[in-house]
Amino acid sequence: MKANCWTGRNSVEVLDVPDPRILNARDAIVKITSTAICGSDLHLVDGYVPSMQKGDILGHEFMGEVVEVGSAVGADKLLVGDRVVVPFPIACGACNACKAELFSCCENSNPNAGMAEKLFGHPTAGIFGYSHLTGGYAGGQAEYARVPFADVGPLKIEADLTDEQVLFLSDIVPTGYMGAELCDIEDGDVVAVWGAGPVGQFAMDSARVLGAGTVIAIDKEPYRLQMAADAGYETVNFDEIDVRSKLLELTGGRGPDKCIDAVGLEATHGATHVHAYDRVKQAVRSETDRPHALRQAILSCRSGGVVSVIGVYGGMIDKFPAGAWMNRSITLRTGQAHVHKYMRPLLERIERGEIDPTRIITHRLPLAEAPHGFDIFKNKQDNCEKIVLTP
Ligand code: NAD
Ligand code: ZN
Ligand code: ZN
Repeated sequence: MKANCWTGRNSVEVLDVPDPRILNARDAIVKITSTAICGSDLHLVDGYVPSMQKGDILGHEFMGEVVEVGSAVGADKLLVGDRVVVPFPIACGACNACKAELFSCCENSNPNAGMAEKLFGHPTAGIFGYSHLTGGYAGGQAEYARVPFADVGPLKIEADLTDEQVLFLSDIVPTGYMGAELCDIEDGDVVAVWGAGPVGQFAMDSARVLGAGTVIAIDKEPYRLQMAADAGYETVNFDEIDVRSKLLELTGGRGPDKCIDAVGLEATHGATHVHAYDRVKQAVRSETDRPHALRQAILSCRSGGVVSVIGVYGGMIDKFPAGAWMNRSITLRTGQAHVHKYMRPLLERIERGEIDPTRIITHRLPLAEAPHGFDIFKNKQDNCEKIVLTP
């Protein structure tokens, strides 16, 4: 089959690779009908999330048709011919973490748990196409994928909805929603969202659904801010104005009630000395992540507010504003999305028209053009916000 593979830092190629096979009785094989490129893929391609190997198949946002099921996947769970969306974390459904609905922290799905333990203290779940640190599983930017624990993860789509309406239930719709849910939004809250990429856009939509009065998008890409403005949100271009001052101005001097970091470890912050500091430290690998958005969110948030972090961090950060966080009673919450928990309720919100996942799709490309897709998505060319690939 064809698959989009990591072939080195800043290099992806569509290659011929062996078809996946059932390896475990709880596996299924899915013939992929739609898949997508995510901001998280950029961290792998840019080389900031370690442990990629040449030839690894990328992609963790995919859906399709079940073409084979293992002997332990009951007919009540999944049948050949079912149309499914697959959540990006791989979860067993039975461990302590899964029972607590912390699916992205599943204790059984990461065969490289020892490697993850060294970096994170404890292992995390396996993730499709997301480095050997999270299990080395083949991803879904391909014609077929093997889906482990297929009796737990895949969500059957029985309603008459298009792929584009449901594909993002695999990741970014639940991720954005979790980002907002972690904020404990109260009616009328001012919610500021750093990053107007796909994840940020759904964090904004979810904040509104959960009762926010004002939602503010912060980014530097005019077309991404325009997309947020078109959806009814305030915008702040951090290349043009000082973010913290603007947020204070919009909130009577107190700061936003809730702040969401939908940027993560590759934040940019102009020609400031702290940016130079982060770039140099990152280049010599004595700081792995550039946490500018996170610092700014903590410093901007009102006292007693919540900072919710759904942008991905990989390792160690410097100059964490611990004093602001501690002295001003700020709550910090985070996680890789526990997608399984959110898929069904969010499918219902999509069916009711409360969230429209298609509003962010700017590009539709065949899988063969995935390398071009990575290029324009990474470099913010051609007003690229979100790309759907079809095998
Ligand atoms: P993206 O790269 O398209 O978007 C990031 C946006 O942040 C860009 O528009 C960029 O211009 C903006 N940005 C950069 N520096 C900024 C700053 N200092 N202040 C404000 N905005 C800034 O990526 P995406 O697909 O939207 O994903 C966003 C983040 O969410 C990534 O880190 C990704 O890995 C992460 N993610 C997390 C989960 C999860 O489960 N927690 C799931 C999916 C993605
Ligand atoms: Zn993703
Ligand atoms: Zn588990």
